[in-house]
Amino acid sequence: MRVLGIETSCDETAAAVIERDESGHGRILSNVVLSQIAEHEPYGGVVPEIAARAHVEALDGLIARALDEAGTPLSEIDAIAATAGPGLIGGLIVGLMTAKALALAADKPFHAINHLEGHALTARLTDNLAFPYLLLLVSGGHTQMILVRGLGQYERLGTTIDDALGEAFDKTAKLLGLPYPGGPAVERAALAGDPKRVTLPRPLKGESRLDFSFSGLKTAVRQAATELAPLSDQDVADICASFQRAVADTLADRVSRSLARFRERFPETAEPALVVAGGVAANKALRAMLEKLCAENGFRFLAPPHELCTDNAAMIAWAGAEHAANGDGDSLDIAPRSRWPLDGAAMPLIGAGR
Ligand code: ATP
Ligand code: MG
Ligand code: FE
Repeated sequence: MRVLGIETSCDETAAAVIERDESGHGRILSNVVLSQIAEHEPYGGVVPEIAARAHVEALDGLIARALDEAGTPLSEIDAIAATAGPGLIGGLIVGLMTAKALALAADKPFHAINHLEGHALTARLTDNLAFPYLLLLVSGGHTQMILVRGLGQYERLGTTIDDALGEAFDKTAKLLGLPYPGGPAVERAALAGDPKRVTLPRPLKGESRLDFSFSGLKTAVRQAATELAPLSDQDVADICASFQRAVADTLADRVSRSLARFRERFPETAEPALVVAGGVAANKALRAMLEKLCAENGFRFLAPPHELCTDNAAMIAWAGAEHAANGDGDSLDIAPRSRWPLDGAAMPLIGAGR
């Protein structure tokens, strides 16, 4: 079956067509993404109103391009899937309404997809991966360790109690005068830095829960930057390297305990796997650390290609295809949800990304 996917939850406007065969193998026929980085760059972050307007302007053209590149007219599409949440409400409305209108006009089944579920299932599109597995989602809006037990069965083992990890990279970059988005800039600067130069905290390290916290780390970076000011290029590099090391140590602590917990829960799983997704997964130092940790613990390590780790519509189309194959479908009455935790549990009181 062929599914058209639409993604407009944040600052990427995206449309894609994927194919899923009878045996569950997936293939991407087209995957068009328009990033709004340039529109938001002057503000150092995503401005919701600008994002919503940009989605309106770009979406129709992107859908036409995705269908065209896939060589599949709308009449040959078997289902339409769109992100219904979580995310910025203005953008979600644009994508969801467009998808519903197409589904209604072309008389196609419709799937309202949780953006996080898209990230969670991507590795099943790119790799031969069976349930259950662990997912570490680290992006600009989310930082979660998720136990993916099956389709629609997601258990959140840990989440951030304040900033998302990508957000911590972005804020660190901003206060050091590095360009937006901050992650790639911090990673680049860190290459020339000494990770032992600045002493930074390892938030929540050694605690039994699997949650994350990054706002204290960001505050410590600000303090270090103030003490060393005016900052030379070497100072900036050293702070970035120290920050990245602190992040790696913190992730390693949470991930190694998650791997152990997975083993306890699923001792019979022959080849357990950890999947990493989200924009921060592009970071080579963090990737190398995770890869090593998995190798040491007998876990398979899967990192989908970068363009499928960051926001895209192929993952939304794929989630739609998995649900379609499962006999699921959604009514056109469904409303967008700015907050929509994957496991359906109540959000913690303090923040938690979006
Ligand atoms: P979400 O996916 O949660 O809705 P988002 O759109 O902000 O939010 P992504 O597009 O997946 O998330 O990722 C963007 C984030 O990834 C930014 O915060 C960016 O700084 C971070 N990032 C990108 N490359 C790197 C890198 N090499 N190292 C660290 N962080 C990175
Ligand atoms: Mg993004
Ligand atoms: Fe995302």
